[in-house]
Amino acid sequence: MEQALVESAIRGVLIAAGVAVVLRMAHIKAPAVLHAAWTGVVVAMLLLPLWTLWGPKASIPLLPVATTASTLAPHPAVVASSPPSRDQRLAPQTTTAAAALTEVAPTSRSIGNWRRIVVAIYGAVVLLLLGRLAIGTVSAHRLRRRALVRSGRLTSVACESPVTVGWLRPVVILPARWESWSPSHLDAVLAHEHAHVRRRDPFVQWLALLNRALFWFVPVTWWLERRLSALAEQSCDDAVLARGHDPVDYAEYLLEDKARADPFVHETGHPPIRFPQHVQEVESHVGIPSIGDR
Ligand SMILES: [Zn+2]
Repeated sequence: MEQALVESAIRGVLIAAGVAVVLRMAHIKAPAVLHAAWTGVVVAMLLLPLWTLWGPKASIPLLPVATTASTLAPHPAVVASSPPSRDQRLAPQTTTAAAALTEVAPTSRSIGNWRRIVVAIYGAVVLLLLGRLAIGTVSAHRLRRRALVRSGRLTSVACESPVTVGWLRPVVILPARWESWSPSHLDAVLAHEHAHVRRRDPFVQWLALLNRALFWFVPVTWWLERRLSALAEQSCDDAVLARGHDPVDYAEYLLEDKARADPFVHETGHPPIRFPQHVQEVESHVGIPSIGDR
């Protein structure tokens, strides 16, 4: 199992590196395309352990087959139960083999102890990260269940900024203050959140968090989660601007939400809102001056 996990991690890194090279060589810049490509890497990484365990065996393994001292050395019980042949009884190798066995045993125990420690640390971190993901998922479901329909929109007082939650049928939940927004502000927010719904971003982000939890020892999984989140935001911003919203007005709406951004959304599967970089990305994307310069 450990070998399947490590082999999957190595293959995952190789796939990510290959995708990075292809994206770079093809000069692909569109956030939606980049998001789709990196989502494919996350899905591949999640399927790799299953493939490694039950799929057709690769002809060239990435890791050497486990050859611990215990597998190389004959088991004492086997040695004791195997009646030695006449030649073996006479041969001096018997004493040599016994000596080797006594030398190998402590090394084997030491490797076994280290292996148990490594597996325990891996399992503890996985449980911690899966626990956080589970808490976030339950919180999102609770938020959705307790949200009330106000003037035709799902609204929650527990929500400080707009959020999209749910896997297969995501919904948009607005903060209670949405009724004070201008029609343009509401339209921009809904365009952004509905883009998340269409793209199934909460589910993709959840998969990225699951991938990060299982392969937490691979730095690329942490990068993938952050990258997918940023690309999802950029893709949804593009959807807002494509509706004809003024980039400066939109940046101001984002800034207003920044002040109220709810930190819990990160673990609910909704991409976290990252300010001010998020606003700067919108500004640079459309070539407008920084808010601070005005
Ligand atoms: Zn968003």
